[in-house]
Amino acid sequence: MLIVMEHGATQEQIHAVENFIREQGFDAHISQGELHTIIGAVGGKIIDEREIQLLDGVREIIRISTSYKLASRAFQKEDTIIKINDVTIGGNQIAMIAGPCTIESYEQMDETAKALSDVGIKILRGGAFKPRTSPYSFQGLGEEGLKIIRRVADKYNMLVTSEVMQISQIPMFMKYVDILQVGARNMQNFNLLKELGFINKPVLIKRGLANTIEEWLMAAEYVLSGGNREVILCERGIRTFERATRNTLDLSAIPVVKQLSHLPVFVDPSHATGLRDKVAPMSRASVAAGCDGLIIEVHNNPPKAVCDGAQSLYPEQFAKLYDDLKAIANVIGRSI
Ligand code: PEP
Ligand code: MN
Repeated sequence: MLIVMEHGATQEQIHAVENFIREQGFDAHISQGELHTIIGAVGGKIIDEREIQLLDGVREIIRISTSYKLASRAFQKEDTIIKINDVTIGGNQIAMIAGPCTIESYEQMDETAKALSDVGIKILRGGAFKPRTSPYSFQGLGEEGLKIIRRVADKYNMLVTSEVMQISQIPMFMKYVDILQVGARNMQNFNLLKELGFINKPVLIKRGLANTIEEWLMAAEYVLSGGNREVILCERGIRTFERATRNTLDLSAIPVVKQLSHLPVFVDPSHATGLRDKVAPMSRASVAAGCDGLIIEVHNNPPKAVCDGAQSLYPEQFAKLYDDLKAIANVIGRSI
C-alpha cells in the first residue's frame, strides 16, 4: 500500500504516519517526490485503511496490486538517478560500461582501459569470479583480479563494476568495486540479493536466462526492501528456441520496464548476441529504444581472450560505435 501525503505535509505528520504503520507491523519506505511524499507500507497485516486515511497530512491511499512495490513507478514517479563521483546513471544521461569479460592480467586490463579511457569511458568492467557453465573452464583470478581492475581503474580515473557470486565475497567487493553486478545465473539467488540490500553501493542486476520481467523486478525488490535504493537493471538476452544468436535480446523489455519501474535499464548486447558483428547494431537499437546505459565487452586482443573473445569488440570498433551512439542519443534528446 502507498500512502500519498498532502503537498506541504510537515515532517511531524510524515513521521506520525511512518510510526503508525510500523506499529501495525509494516516496513515503511519513504519516497520524497517533487510534489508529494509517498510512504510505501510493505508487509504487515490487513488493517482498516480508514485509520490511516484519518491521520493528519494524508492525501490518499493507493493499493498496489503488483508484487513489486518499491521498484514500481507508482511508488516513485521520478527516475532513479545514481551518482558515483562524477558519473551519473539514470535520467537523461546514457551511461557506458565497457571492458573485457574477465580480468586476465595487469597488461590486458591496462591496455584495454587506456583505449576506453581515451574515448571517454568512465566505467570499467571485468569479471574476477566467473560463473562458467563448465567447472573446467577458467573461473577468474579472484581477489587478485579485483586488485588489478581497481589499480587500473584508479590510474585512468574510472569506476569498477564486477560480478559478485556469493554472500561471503561482499566485504571483498566493497573494498575494490564501485558497482556490484549480479549475474543472470544469480538473479534468483534471494539470499545474495537480500544481503546486497544492506550495502551502500549500487547493484546491477542482470535479467535471468529464463526469467520474466516481473521476476526480474522482484529481484530488484529484494535489494530495495533491504534499504539499498541504488539498483540498476540490465537486459542481457533470454533463452528462446532461436540458436542464431547466443540469446535473444528482448528489446521491448526496455520500454516495458521503463513504464513499470523508475529504475535505470541497461542493455548488455555482448552476452545477448554472443557475436561481435551483432553488438553494434543491437547497441544502436537499444539506445534508440530508450535504454539508460550499455555494458559492452571490449578486449585489447579479442582472438587471445580467455573467455568470450568472439563477442568482444576491438577497441577501434568500440570507439566507432561510441560515436554512432552519441549521434543516436542526440536525435532522441539524450546525451552520452
Ligand atoms: C558477465 O557480464 O560477465 C556475465 C557473465 O553476464 P551474464 O550474467 O549476463 O551471463
Ligand atoms: Mn562474458
